[in-house]
Amino acid sequence: MTTMQPVPRLVDQFEHGLDAPICLTWELTYACNLSCVHCLSSSGKRDPRELSTQQCKDIIDELERMQVFYVNIGGGEPTVRSDFWELVDYATAHHVGVKFSTNGVRITPDVAAKLAASDYVDVQISLDGATAEVNDAVRGPGSFEMAVRALENLRDAGFTDAKISVVVTRHNVGQLDDFKALADSYGATLRITRLRPSGRGADVWDELHPTPAQQVELYDWLVARGERVLTGDSFFHLSGLGEPGALAGLNLCGAGRVVCLIDPVGDVYACPFAIHDTFLAGNVLSDNGFQNVWQNSTLFRELREPQSAGACGSCGHYDSCRGGCMAAKFFTGLPLDGPDPECVQGYGEPALARERDKPKSSVDHSRTGARKKPSGPVPLTLLSAPPKKFCNESPV
Ligand code: SF4
Ligand code: SF4
Repeated sequence: MTTMQPVPRLVDQFEHGLDAPICLTWELTYACNLSCVHCLSSSGKRDPRELSTQQCKDIIDELERMQVFYVNIGGGEPTVRSDFWELVDYATAHHVGVKFSTNGVRITPDVAAKLAASDYVDVQISLDGATAEVNDAVRGPGSFEMAVRALENLRDAGFTDAKISVVVTRHNVGQLDDFKALADSYGATLRITRLRPSGRGADVWDELHPTPAQQVELYDWLVARGERVLTGDSFFHLSGLGEPGALAGLNLCGAGRVVCLIDPVGDVYACPFAIHDTFLAGNVLSDNGFQNVWQNSTLFRELREPQSAGACGSCGHYDSCRGGCMAAKFFTGLPLDGPDPECVQGYGEPALARERDKPKSSVDHSRTGARKKPSGPVPLTLLSAPPKKFCNESPV
């Protein structure tokens, strides 16, 4: 008789890290035509040390050898790189599928037709308001129209299932139904993610992050209406608001375990929302390639060790929420082994009210005169099934 070995739970496997990341984000450039107030990578100007075309192809070769099946490409605005389409073609020819995020600036009818002809490229258009008024307050004048034109071009070219990606803020949380309707009208899928205090997001987080009441409304909306909405697993910090498992997805910080970022100069960070020296694991050029950094860096090995529950240890929601997001805590100056700044038990607010040192950005590529905080509030109201997928996408 053979003895059945217990099969480890997926979450336990993830906790100890995998041989290759499953949520790899690659920011190809810090250059961007927009200056969104909450840009997680403080993008604007191109970094002169940006990886060359050949260096990017070498990384793609390595990803293929590691069997990384797809990569989330972002920036900055990745399509402004003159070799962007060459790199997309190279990746797909080497069995690395591409999902790229764009503000839509280069999604012309011709480009949309080319994209529609590929089975291995997915496009995600960023929008932070279901109306120009709400969107442009965050992303800049004309950005709504540009994104909608890109969606129209994709639809007209027969591109199926584009994604509309929304960072949920205090000003657009009341538009969730409108975003869903907009996505449906373009045959697209809505994707909503959490506003993190990373990059320029640190400057506007206090004003833009949803209020505690809005967090509850957001949770209710996800449970009631989120079945076909992607979330990048970003709302697990809200899990304590309902039954365990009501929000499907990974309820664990995947930084350095299943998630990481390669930045435009080849630096590897634990998470796209953690662009800071503290979370810098190494560099693909100077540390003998991406695989070596991913598998052997001291930082990633540490992150894969069991983490202390700290002050959350006595909370009944800890198994659901695991203390929330490492990056959100770090960039708000809260202890990494304590509650999330948006803790549903309300422990975040008093912690934020205490004196704290917010870490300064290690990198900032903002153009001079980058957009300032939105000048005033924009209208809201609220609404509600959970994404039924594991972490199959970038948290960005
Ligand atoms: S730091 Fe936050 S955004 Fe990054 S993987 Fe962890 S929970 Fe997700
Ligand atoms: S106290 Fe910690 S574990 Fe409990 S809900 Fe808040 S962040 Fe999550």
